[in-house]
Amino acid sequence: MNFNFKDFINKSRKKIDNNLKNIYSRKNTPIIFYFILLILYTIVSILLTQSAKVAGTIPVFGQIIPYGIFTGVFSSIANICIILLVVLFGKLGFITSMIILLGQFPILIVNLVIIHTPNSIPGIFTNIFTIISIICIYLINQSIQKFQEKLRKQAITDGLTGLPNRLAAMEYMNKFIKKNERFALVSVDLTNFKRVNDSVGHDIGDKILIEIANRWKNLADSLKTGTSDFIARLGGDEYAIIIRNYSSSLEILSSLNMYEEELERKITINNYDYYVRASFGFAEFPFDAETSINLFSCADAALHKVQRANTNYKILRFTSELLQLEQNAEIEQKLRQAIENEAIECFLQPQYDIAHKLCGFEALARIKDTDGTFISPSVFIPIAEKAGLIDRVDVLVFKKAAKFLAEIIAEGNNDIIMSTNISVRHMMKSNFIDEIKSLLKLTNVPANRIKIEITESIMIDFNEKAVRCINEIKELGMKIAIDDFGTGYSSLSYLQKFPADMLKIDKSFIDVMNTSDASKKYVATIISIGHILNLEVISEGVESPDQLDTLQETGCDYIQGYIWGRPMPLEEAKKLIAVETGKEI
Ligand code: C2E
Ligand code: CA
Ligand code: CA
Repeated sequence: MNFNFKDFINKSRKKIDNNLKNIYSRKNTPIIFYFILLILYTIVSILLTQSAKVAGTIPVFGQIIPYGIFTGVFSSIANICIILLVVLFGKLGFITSMIILLGQFPILIVNLVIIHTPNSIPGIFTNIFTIISIICIYLINQSIQKFQEKLRKQAITDGLTGLPNRLAAMEYMNKFIKKNERFALVSVDLTNFKRVNDSVGHDIGDKILIEIANRWKNLADSLKTGTSDFIARLGGDEYAIIIRNYSSSLEILSSLNMYEEELERKITINNYDYYVRASFGFAEFPFDAETSINLFSCADAALHKVQRANTNYKILRFTSELLQLEQNAEIEQKLRQAIENEAIECFLQPQYDIAHKLCGFEALARIKDTDGTFISPSVFIPIAEKAGLIDRVDVLVFKKAAKFLAEIIAEGNNDIIMSTNISVRHMMKSNFIDEIKSLLKLTNVPANRIKIEITESIMIDFNEKAVRCINEIKELGMKIAIDDFGTGYSSLSYLQKFPADMLKIDKSFIDVMNTSDASKKYVATIISIGHILNLEVISEGVESPDQLDTLQETGCDYIQGYIWGRPMPLEEAKKLIAVETGKEI
């Protein structure tokens, strides 16, 4: 099974970051509600005094109710307003409520002592109890807020060095991204720090990490670099520096040189001297990426490049080609793993004759990614060719396709032909023919049931070696198809000499075939040339009924395309054969 540790860490990190954000973030209630509560409180207080004064009655749901009864209702609503003010608006709400409640005391006391209104006595008590309640609510709220603040601090601080952590760095960047302010993110990785940890132990390793953090923090705080810098520790021996207030990339470089110098001064711990170096890769907002996550990817791509480069100069700026290199390196890693675990899968796409009779399959390589999706061969085949891994891919697919063929032959099928792709680079290898021979022996399939697809580019460097190779394949009894025909520059004279059995018209010609008369004639000409040279002709990438009609009219022999069948897993291909043979009977 392919398990990508880096992907796993990145996904887990995102999840943890999100959870922490949810825990400590507290959304402020919009201030408009503060005024709504004040207005509501004022209205209810007016109604409260009015209802206390009026002696009449009012019919509610058929019952006659005295106005005085509503005093309690209005008083409760007023208290709720006061409590909500404290709960939702913290200090502001608390002060407002206290002013309101304390401000009522003189009126109540005047009512009681001077005007001799005894019914203001309950009002005095209600006020006292409400004041006690809101003081309690306010204090409890404050302690919850303090706790949240503490959580937040822990969530954004690196436990070892006290520096802000990755989450804090992201928040910091997001702030400037929102303001659209230019800044640079620098990813820093200490060189060979694992060796330091392994040789002197984690305690000393931790002290070195703390010393580096202190040095860089002091340098950033001193503003000596001339730029505004923010230092974070991302974990392990990785740090980040966010640089602002500069006018050119040169200033970033000069700041980074200062951080490098500061790092490379000897670090003395327990009377031993240590020397540490680091690599720096940086990317800029908004030029290289527009989100903090993508900026990290860009800065990391530059960092990885500088680490691989093995030069003395350790600072590199991101360029867009680096991201491609980084992605390719990741795919190459997945490819190596898939080869190692023999996890390169083989899908089969059906090939039919023009009357819709199944006559064969093309074996196509697939790599399943960690998330269950497939990486396209158009992506990993060129990488496999560059990395010298293509022969291993070809062999794995060949083996799986041949095993499948052996199984269906054992079940009595004797006409399905299996086409497999062989890269030109692979074919040019000195031991290619021996490899093919041993594969045939191993899988025990008759050579004449296998067709090798080689791209037309073989004819560009059509040399003696290629001719010898092709002839030997033919001598073994295998068939040969020229793939992607029409895209290369093969001349008719080469084509005439080339001992192929089939021409495969490239999908790009089928795509445009019905868009102009000239394109249609072009395809018809390829088919005629193929027939003149005694070659069978198959069209690939046939998707629509009108393409099929044209190909039938122009005399194409075979069809491969989504219109009649997509590439499918081996089990599905077996079912398809069963259905097709059933149809024949
Ligand atoms: P190819 O040999 O030209 O294979 C045909 C490609 O066209 C396949 O893509 C197939 O899925 C796709 N295709 C077929 N019919 C249709 C259609 O109707 N519509 C569309 N849109 N596409 C269609 P796939 O599987 O992605 O393979 C891409 C290329 O990767 C192949 O092109 C081949 O050059 C290479 N490849 C795949 N497997 C192997 C392998 O085992 N060894 C080597 N050397 N190359 C391989
Ligand atoms: Ca092919
Ligand atoms: Ca092709």
